[in-house]
Amino acid sequence: MRQSQLFTKTTKELPKDEASLNAQLLIRAGFVDKIMAGVYEFLPLGWRVLNKIENIIREEMDAVGGQEMFMSALSPKENWEKTGRLETMNVLMKALGANKESREINDAEYILNSTHEEVITPIAKKFALSYRDLPFSIYQIQTKFRNEARPKSGLLRGREFRMKDLYSFHVSQEDMKRYYEEVKQAYLKIFKRLGIGADTYITLASGGDFTTDFSHEFQTECQTGEDEIHVCDKCKIALNKEVLERQSICPECENKDLRLAKASEVGNIFPLNTKFSKAFDYYFTDKEGNKQIVYMASYGIGPSRLMGVIVEKFADDKGMIWPENIAPFKVHLLSLNQNEEADKLYEVLKDLGVEVLYDDREVSAGEKMADSDLLGCPFRVLISAKTKSAGKLELKLRDSNEVQMLSEKELIEKLS
Ligand SMILES: [Zn+2]
Repeated sequence: MRQSQLFTKTTKELPKDEASLNAQLLIRAGFVDKIMAGVYEFLPLGWRVLNKIENIIREEMDAVGGQEMFMSALSPKENWEKTGRLETMNVLMKALGANKESREINDAEYILNSTHEEVITPIAKKFALSYRDLPFSIYQIQTKFRNEARPKSGLLRGREFRMKDLYSFHVSQEDMKRYYEEVKQAYLKIFKRLGIGADTYITLASGGDFTTDFSHEFQTECQTGEDEIHVCDKCKIALNKEVLERQSICPECENKDLRLAKASEVGNIFPLNTKFSKAFDYYFTDKEGNKQIVYMASYGIGPSRLMGVIVEKFADDKGMIWPENIAPFKVHLLSLNQNEEADKLYEVLKDLGVEVLYDDREVSAGEKMADSDLLGCPFRVLISAKTKSAGKLELKLRDSNEVQMLSEKELIEKLS
């Protein structure tokens, strides 16, 4: 894409009322815009990144047999009364009907879903009633809502955010645990592909409000992280704060020497057991014709939150640094008054299927380079009078700042 055509612009000004690093950088670079506290618009560059994150998650959910669907954002509050969460979830966002013609609609109250157990359980019950129908798993990637009191962490904790939620249904707790382990491994693959695999730990957490002792968080080590975890470096797993109060050794190897680290949560999975199947009377018929309760588990990852965490984890004082798999563009091509040569190279790279953002704007070299650092594409290719006279192109790697002078042929080999 030609940067001269991009409708968003970068700005040096720090956004007002924005304390978090991720939102500051994403807004300054024109990836997102804030319409109110905790609610962000995804602009073209940010939308590209979000889509790449979501597609990686989608591929790994498909690989463990998840069937993708799309559920409503609104639901009737009766479903939440059934599970008791209308009372217990204090971040539940409610929507009021407003219609001058009809009092009935005017007084209606709905829930803007923050999670979908209350929606998916009655759907599953309509279709899967025999042991032959189980197990199965369903997921969606969708917008969710939480009534955060003071959202101030940018994309890390919004009032409206993107979520991938997978739900699995089983004939027994044993089968649920088997699949739970499978999804755990799928999550590790996702984080690896997103470029944060080396620093992301399966973290033992308390069971929340579910009828279970433990759940699992996935925590990524990050200097600006809001959580503290206790890492066993031998086993590459961690305990969160609450769990540490109950046990202070690694559950795998009994190592007592756990390392304290700052981290950000990037996913969580819960063995729900029978909490929701009981609330919705969801039973199946076993081989012998007896009624049995269905076991469930749920598995969440917030793609928009992940985007914020990745910005915070990798950013330097000049701007963002995107891992290659989720960068808005792989290459940022900068022309310093050499548009004829740059146009040609732009076409060559496009034909090779390389994603290129081409800075063909009439602005200073300094501004182009500063913007390139702020936007954070992994490879910066620069064409100037100097590189032209040397018959070379300058390639700079955003993460290491390493600079190489290459011929066009060498550059193409490197990028494609
Ligand atoms: Zn260990």
